[in-house]
Amino acid sequence: VSALDVRGLEYRYPDGTCALDGIDLRVEPGERVAVLGPNGAGKTTFVLHLNGVLTGTGHIEVSGLSLSPGTLREIRRRVGVVFQDPDDQLFMPTVADDVAFGPANFGVAEPELGERVRSALAAVGMSAHADRSPMHLSEGQRRRVALATVLASDPELLVLDEPSANLEPVARRELADVLLSLDRTMLMVTHDLPYALQLCPRAVLIDNGVVVADGPTRDLLADA
Ligand code: ADP
Ligand code: ADP
Repeated sequence: VSALDVRGLEYRYPDGTCALDGIDLRVEPGERVAVLGPNGAGKTTFVLHLNGVLTGTGHIEVSGLSLSPGTLREIRRRVGVVFQDPDDQLFMPTVADDVAFGPANFGVAEPELGERVRSALAAVGMSAHADRSPMHLSEGQRRRVALATVLASDPELLVLDEPSANLEPVARRELADVLLSLDRTMLMVTHDLPYALQLCPRAVLIDNGVVVADGPTRDLLADA
């Protein structure tokens, strides 16, 4: 069963703008896929459908489960979205509290909760900072903590929105190393073509609300 199966997804904003015009995309377990495309192509709108923030017409299935009002909660656990700005995800007094928030909300209790927090922080190389305030971390560290908050819910599909944006070179490389070390199915929206090439064997190109190319990232970038 596919990690993600999207068929004929269409969406219009209330003002009539057609943002998605029939997206088809299937992602197999373990794949890392870059989502490329110009500004206004529909990438953000697409991501907002994967965790049910926006609801268009068409079909979305995550690891065999169809998105519907009755499955929305479980779909949100299965699809972990890491937003571009960590401020959208970090709001607790300590790093550990932030990482515990998601799984606690999905009903994970101690002692497993503490184990989830420890292993998520270890996966992003932030174990030493568990008791610090997220406000006092560097941007690169904050982005890795935001990633840990999502990993702690053990998602089947990790969705990253511009993970490398505005990171200095060292932080950019540290995040790439972390992402490469994760054994997760990944969808990464990015304008950073070297990052896409380094991290994602496959890429899809979205334009005007449809997938206009899909294949090995190297081939897509060669044609661009
Ligand atoms: P991308 O993330 O690829 O830059 P978006 O998904 O943000 O693209 O936008 C897709 C299209 O939808 C664009 O034409 C954009 O202007 C339009 N759009 C995005 N958000 C809204 C909104 N809140 N209301 C109306 N139109 C929107
Ligand atoms: P991204 O950086 O992911 O491409 P955008 O710049 O497309 O995001 O959009 C940033 C914000 O502006 C989003 O909240 C989006 O919904 C909103 N937005 C984009 N285009 C429009 C539009 N035509 N009308 C209203 N809101 C829009």
